[in-house]
Amino acid sequence: MSRTEELAAALARTTHRVRAAARAAGRDPAGLTLVVVTKFFPADDVRHLAGLGVRDVGESRDQEASAKAAELGDLALRWHFIGQLQTNKARSAARYADVVHSVDRTRLATALQAGAAHAGRRIGCFVQVDLAAGLGLDADAGRGGAGGDDVLRVAEAVAAGDDLDLLGVMAVAPQDVEPERAFAELARTAQRLRAEHPGAVQVSAGMSGDLEAAVAAGATHLRVGSAILGSRPPAR
Ligand SMILES: *Cc1c(COP(=O)(O)O)cnc(C)c1O
Repeated sequence: MSRTEELAAALARTTHRVRAAARAAGRDPAGLTLVVVTKFFPADDVRHLAGLGVRDVGESRDQEASAKAAELGDLALRWHFIGQLQTNKARSAARYADVVHSVDRTRLATALQAGAAHAGRRIGCFVQVDLAAGLGLDADAGRGGAGGDDVLRVAEAVAAGDDLDLLGVMAVAPQDVEPERAFAELARTAQRLRAEHPGAVQVSAGMSGDLEAAVAAGATHLRVGSAILGSRPPAR
């Protein structure tokens, strides 16, 4: 099997899962965006995926993402930045990212606004939520995310950015918690955000292992990597 055939088969399996999850939840699959997470995989894989109809791709490291976006500039892709983003990388990310899922500090929102204005682009932003506190766990220091009222403060900073669009909330389900519980907590946070920002109706949640639970809990953006590309090479 060629790599394209392999990717086509895995993409079809995942699309099937997403449709089945939507059906089970009584939701229209058209309301779901599948972001294919291509981190650690070569630009050639992204090109194959684009040939298979993929439009939304996710990356988690600025250096890798900016190189791929430059190499694949001929393709009509939407680049989603999903990893932790250092403030000093915001200007770089603003050059290629269409959506940033990991805005978790007011300072990062301000830096992304400056980068977007400089690049003459608009950037969609999700506020990344640390679900740990709401679930009675220790703060999930390794993965980023705003907790408690900081979610609303970060959202306010995004909404204040002329070139930023506040899309909604994003989270990664903490390990050792049933995804249903984690995504229910995210849905509560999403509701609190919508009370103040009625347009922020998107929810980025769900990965290869828990996308069904995320769809059931109202996710609009699924970030799926290994189920489509295979297991990632060990982190360098
Ligand atoms: C890597 C990553 C994903 C994709 O995870 P898989 O389990 O490979 O589907 C999704 N979201 C974030 C934030 C990630 O870093």
